[in-house]
Amino acid sequence: MRRFIRTAVVLTAVTLAACGPSDPPLDLLFVSFDTVRRDHLSLYEYRRATSPRLEALAEKSVVFSEAYTQSTKTAPSHASMFTGLYPHQHGILDNFHRLSPSAVTLAELLQQSGFRSGAFVSSSTMTGGPSGLQRGFEVWDDKLESHRRSAGLTVDRALRWLDSLEATDRFFLFVHLYDAHGPYAPPEEYASLFLSESPGPPVEIVPAYQIQFVEEQQIDFDLNHYVNRYDGAIRYLDDQLGRLLDAVDLDRTAVLVVADHGETLGERYWSLDHGGQVFDEQIRIPLVLYLPGAKPQWLANPVETVDLLPTLLEAMAVSNSRGSDVAGRSLMPEMANGARLAKRPVFSSAIALSQRHADRGYELDRNRLILGVRYEGWKLVRYPGQQEDYWELYDLEADPDERVNLVDQQVERLEELKRLLEDWNRLATIVEPDPIELSEEDKEKLRVLGYLD
Ligand SMILES: [Zn+2]
Repeated sequence: MRRFIRTAVVLTAVTLAACGPSDPPLDLLFVSFDTVRRDHLSLYEYRRATSPRLEALAEKSVVFSEAYTQSTKTAPSHASMFTGLYPHQHGILDNFHRLSPSAVTLAELLQQSGFRSGAFVSSSTMTGGPSGLQRGFEVWDDKLESHRRSAGLTVDRALRWLDSLEATDRFFLFVHLYDAHGPYAPPEEYASLFLSESPGPPVEIVPAYQIQFVEEQQIDFDLNHYVNRYDGAIRYLDDQLGRLLDAVDLDRTAVLVVADHGETLGERYWSLDHGGQVFDEQIRIPLVLYLPGAKPQWLANPVETVDLLPTLLEAMAVSNSRGSDVAGRSLMPEMANGARLAKRPVFSSAIALSQRHADRGYELDRNRLILGVRYEGWKLVRYPGQQEDYWELYDLEADPDERVNLVDQQVERLEELKRLLEDWNRLATIVEPDPIELSEEDKEKLRVLGYLD
């Protein structure tokens, strides 16, 4: 039993500079909420109380209001968090790809510094083995009864592991919680927690995996039917986060809470899903970092999930043997003095799936990625076409829903962002994707579940 054995260290310092990142040596709790879009958390002013525990933690934390993910699929996104690299650098462009042998993970670096490391994941897309996602973890618990595991069960196992540690062990605990991923099926008390007065607008297409347990004639095409359950699932995750927070000593444990990507809920032709798109509702994510003694604040600078590895290493006072090979940058200087770093572009990518853009008539080349760059209030997206590429340019201040494509009206802006995107893409391509060979049986199972298109 390790919980609360150590004498609590009372920190009065209010800035990181005064506190020092290694005094006392910190443990790390890293919680990933799968498929949780930022604007459905009450932390970010959502109208429903979906995240009371996260809000309470945020009052003592650094909250990033402009955090973006590098990919809208689960495994590529987590691989970017774990390596500080973009998907076309670490090699996991889609679920069921292999991590490049040259990529070094956060867990490996912490393990080399003596951390005990355990990971508890909740979906088959986070399976270890050939994917390499488990590199550096002494425990990678992906034993799922089906393709997913309820957050309560995953947290049970994580807490058991925590209890098994010695009081002197420094730990890195990674917990991945999946209930907000479709089909939205949290425990019943959460599924019925939020009810709408109206059914909401009709949904044009409901992805097959959202309705896999429903008879065809019972399929509901009202948007709020799904949103209510989605919001309930987020509240369930928040309660499970609370169990983890109650089990660690917050005087000496850093806590990171993040989502791997968001979800489109009625905004597009292809909805109730993620991946194959880089719209803001899918790439804009919650990000909260609690460090004992650090000044609580909200930071509005754009940050990326590739920044997590260098930030956490600095916070843990662990040297980064990857050096400048990491694409991200440490956010600690900004957190210490509130400095605004140089303006920077934010990049995201997605596998090109034509069906998701059938309303646009796009015929996409699946072998190349959809690439997006967000810079100074504008976003440019390149859709790789089979004949020629398609470009979309959005003025995010005037058009936050990304509806009006301005490629023909904003030629200079288009060229500027194209240069950013092309430079990034050219420089970053260092590995070829290496898909894992799946059996025909596994492929069929995954297709039904919506993991293979
Ligand atoms: Zn995911």
